[in-house]
Amino acid sequence: MTDSHCPYCSLQCGMALSPSRSGLQIAPRADRNRTSNPRGDDGALCRKGWTAGGLRGSRERLTSPLIRDRATGELRAVDWDEALDVVASRLAALRAEHGPDANAIFGGGGLTNEKSYLLGKLARVALGTSQIDYNGRWCMSSAASAGNQAFGVDRGLPFPLADIEEADVVVLVGSNMAETMPPAARHLDRLRERGGKVVVIDPRVTPTAARADVVLQPVPGSDVALALGLLHLIDAAGAVDETYVRERTTGFEDVRRSVASWWPERVERITGVPSGELREVADLLAGSERVMVLTARGAEQHATGTDTVLAWINIALALGMPGRPGAGYGCLTGQGNGQGGREHGQKADQLPGYRSITDPADRAHVAAVWGVDPATIPGKGRSAYELLQALGTPEGPKSLLVLGSNIVVSAPNATEITARLQSLDLLVVADIVMSETAALADVVLPVTQWAEEGGTMTNLEGRVILRHQAITPPAGVRSDLDLIAGLAERLGAPGVWPTDPETVFEELRAASSGGKADYAGITYDRIRAEDGVFWPCPAPVEGEDHPGTPRLFADAFAHPDGRARALVVDHRGPAEEVSADYPVHLTTGRVLAQYQSGAQTRRIRELPDEGAFVEIHPLLAGRVGARDGEPLLIRTVRGEMKAPARVVDTIRPDTVFVPFHWVGVNKLTNDALDPSSRMPEFKVSACAVSA
Ligand code: SF4
Repeated sequence: MTDSHCPYCSLQCGMALSPSRSGLQIAPRADRNRTSNPRGDDGALCRKGWTAGGLRGSRERLTSPLIRDRATGELRAVDWDEALDVVASRLAALRAEHGPDANAIFGGGGLTNEKSYLLGKLARVALGTSQIDYNGRWCMSSAASAGNQAFGVDRGLPFPLADIEEADVVVLVGSNMAETMPPAARHLDRLRERGGKVVVIDPRVTPTAARADVVLQPVPGSDVALALGLLHLIDAAGAVDETYVRERTTGFEDVRRSVASWWPERVERITGVPSGELREVADLLAGSERVMVLTARGAEQHATGTDTVLAWINIALALGMPGRPGAGYGCLTGQGNGQGGREHGQKADQLPGYRSITDPADRAHVAAVWGVDPATIPGKGRSAYELLQALGTPEGPKSLLVLGSNIVVSAPNATEITARLQSLDLLVVADIVMSETAALADVVLPVTQWAEEGGTMTNLEGRVILRHQAITPPAGVRSDLDLIAGLAERLGAPGVWPTDPETVFEELRAASSGGKADYAGITYDRIRAEDGVFWPCPAPVEGEDHPGTPRLFADAFAHPDGRARALVVDHRGPAEEVSADYPVHLTTGRVLAQYQSGAQTRRIRELPDEGAFVEIHPLLAGRVGARDGEPLLIRTVRGEMKAPARVVDTIRPDTVFVPFHWVGVNKLTNDALDPSSRMPEFKVSACAVSA
């Protein structure tokens, strides 16, 4: 048996893997209580985890590099040397003709820390390009932006997930935890068994909402107004922790003044949430010792996502919660390594260790580890969506190397972005299967999946964990680290390009040392011994290991003065208001059996692949003549799709919901960006619905 973790979501449930005749045997790891901070998975797996071995031995796996023949347009099998030679020579030619930013890289939140680190180094050192970002920008970047502004640091949860059980009230804002990470929802059940309360805020009564004590169903795009109204009531009730606010925050008096006009009836008009329900939640928060607020994609994937998170952080600060045991604010990150992926260099504005690419001292530190002149490290590049929008334009990149992302399914305004991909001189995609994006590529590179390689991930708690290699990869398949090193070597890049994950991690430790996300004290041996180590974990001092930091903010926040920032935000509403032509709100999300773009889970036989559907309330269904199971046409200004109706009374009558795991709904979603995080507004568009 080999210890590993699930290949999918940020909970990173522990797994014991062993080869079997049918491919790979998977069991949950039962050693969850080995540390004083038990893993959040509660020793369980969801059905996606149980069946994750389904691609082992599958005919869907890619096992040979493929190059598109220019004459026939068909992909033909080649060996790895030929594929890497072609890619490297075309990248070099594009750079010579158009400059270093002609080449771009798009990474993924599922890549290990080692891959994320080496991919960032490939961009900055081997290609000299500033054009690198990753799909985590679409996942939790609004929470990251808000966390940096308010607390001075961005770590999804500043406490272990199991701390949920210690709270008196947990507020889930836009999280469908019971479907997206079912083992985590057990903590909610235990909280309720000991008398705690769960509040869910979501336009749909999801399986998570069904387990809650109070459910608020605001109109999509009105989350900021809801939070402003709650803080108004909390202040009016005299429940602000004045000592905490005075001693641990700045800016709160401005925030207090800004919510003075957000009385409940005004909030009701904007959000559709009855003022009585708003008062009920405000009373609950005001009267509780330990309140925990957790946001997820429902709150964050908006053009106002950062403001929404800041508004909820203001509530947590007003109540004096961040830093208190069993309380505070946290973000439930989504992808397996969305957190580590941005900490170590895949994001356009960051260098390893959460260092800033614009800070001279940060650049000098990383340059010294890389063995290059700091002046050669490019500056800040375009954010993920802006990068894709620029592809193939006169000023934009001419090539794109994609690792661990299925852009055709997951990008907003996907028809436009697919056209951008098709306009490139060179599209290279590394994947384990022929995803919709790989199918467009000029060069496809077959890479290892999680059980066939080792590496670290940083889960939603900031816990750095280790996946061990359990099985040998199929013939013809190489790891992303081999791919990156092979390209760097052919491009004549300076420095070393290791392919062994532990060796890469040793370099990452040095690059992160002294940064916000400091991994210098974390080693593979420590992760094995302690079942994960929480960052920041600086290097040992006088031979003494740093214990790691499971809980942040107990004494100080990460701003230089140690105080959190309460920041004024205002309600702006969705970027696209409903109108006579598009009178319904469209929102998107996930289902239990599928993960992200579905490139893996849609190919696993044991998981039901039911295709997209449209959840619609009976009142709206009656108005448009929709019947359960019969096709509905959904249109936005960007495109249209058909999918069968699911008539349910658990959704608002002015809103329809479509899951995003299949090609379709992201052709309709809005690409308006949050001004701070550059997160697209996946969660609300104006649409028309007809039978
Ligand atoms: Fe755990 Fe998430 Fe994997 Fe399910 S998908 S087993 S919740 S890590």
